[in-house]
Amino acid sequence: MADPNDSLSERARRADKIVRNPSKYKICAGCDSIVAQKVSICPNCHSYRFEGDRESVVAQARALGQRHAQSVILSDLE
Ligand SMILES: [Zn+2]
Repeated sequence: MADPNDSLSERARRADKIVRNPSKYKICAGCDSIVAQKVSICPNCHSYRFEGDRESVVAQARALGQRHAQSVILSDLE
């Protein structure tokens, strides 16, 4: 029963945090979710392959922060 607007603003808040510190995060190659750098297996799709370059992380964080998507931002796993 989550309010979509609250969910979207929560995404934006998390995305902003990631954009300011992209080196702490990486992107799952399986589902394009953003996870903390220390995560070794994606909690969303259980992939173990990640892309870690900063530009990709920032671009993905901005994309996920602006719309609802299947991919998720898992910054709360820090
Ligand atoms: Zn994944």
